[in-house]
Amino acid sequence: MLGPMSTDQPTAWVTIDLDAIASNVASLKERAGDAAVMAVVKGDAYGHGLVPSARAALRGGATWLGVAQMAEALELRAAGVDAPLLTWLHAPGVNFAPAVREGIDIGVPAVWEIEAVAQAARDEGRTARVQLKADTGLARNGAYGKDWDLLRDAAARLQAEGVIDVTGVFTHFAYADSPQHPTVLQQQELFRERVADAERAGLKPDVRHMSNSAATLTTPSAAWDMVRPGLSVYGLTPVPDLGDAASFGLRPAMTMAARATVVKRVPAGQGVSYGHTYVTPRETTLVDVPAGYADGVPRAASAVGPVAIEGKRFTVAGRVCMDQFVVDVGDLPVEAGAEIVLFGPGDHGEPTAQDWADAVGTISYEIVTRISSRLPRVYVGEGA
Ligand SMILES: *Cc1c(COP(=O)(O)O)cnc(C)c1O
Repeated sequence: MLGPMSTDQPTAWVTIDLDAIASNVASLKERAGDAAVMAVVKGDAYGHGLVPSARAALRGGATWLGVAQMAEALELRAAGVDAPLLTWLHAPGVNFAPAVREGIDIGVPAVWEIEAVAQAARDEGRTARVQLKADTGLARNGAYGKDWDLLRDAAARLQAEGVIDVTGVFTHFAYADSPQHPTVLQQQELFRERVADAERAGLKPDVRHMSNSAATLTTPSAAWDMVRPGLSVYGLTPVPDLGDAASFGLRPAMTMAARATVVKRVPAGQGVSYGHTYVTPRETTLVDVPAGYADGVPRAASAVGPVAIEGKRFTVAGRVCMDQFVVDVGDLPVEAGAEIVLFGPGDHGEPTAQDWADAVGTISYEIVTRISSRLPRVYVGEGA
């Protein structure tokens, strides 16, 4: 058991195993065969911390990094990460000049955007790197139907002008987590047409890519030149019904823990936390855990969230509050300062992020990504 809190021991924290990230990428690379790996580090690397996670992924063999928002791409460049980088989610009004200056690939789904990128390139006196994003059936952010033709024509014209270089063509699956779903083949077929169409228009993309984690793990035919996994980089399975993390050679990188603030003995019949939705069935020990929904512990975990104390499993008693929740540990001897593990790799009896997702009815993506940046990240492994 760890000692009582001191100023250099955080109350609640997440530990990030950088070696797990590197080895997960190595596993993904092996599955991808000849295809390169773009590690997706959007959303602060799914809550794991952008820059350290990106460096660990590169150490594991990723040769590209991908983010949704340009600010994260610029943050990586500012930290000295010079690997090829793709950013793919922008709204009108965004200033593309910094991305053009930093040689960041810009994923474009629409004519307004390729025109704005081209203008930034003219202003900067540089050629912008552009990747065309085709909508092959997700009906989300790519160029759909006839909009693809307009985007392809604009790309060919701007490339001839010398202001852009089309470095890639990409798309995204709707049903990669159900590999037998008919759209998985249909999207591959339409993507093949879009790529051929771009090439007929004189564009010569180096990287043609469509596979997120689920496709990387279950649909090798979709690997093309590069795969684009996110969740699996962090050691979580995107297809829990088809295989757990270990079965795919993945190890969860994030462990979330907190130190008990107060431990108390209460009689039978004591209501616990707001609204007294839990009432002690007998005399018991209650442990106050200093992590709540401000830290990213879902309030939906009230009465169902699993935790481990000294390797033994307990469940959140009553409601999760903003900064804390309570656990009924029965007669287990626990002292203030004891470590409570919310989730981790699962090899010391602790729950996993997948267990939390199952308990609250969501996906592990949301559990790790929403862990608040107010919680200190403690990095372990090479490069920590
Ligand atoms: C988030 C995202 C990915 C990674 O998806 P995972 O399911 O986490 O592997 C890949 N490509 C695009 C366009 C994305 O938005």
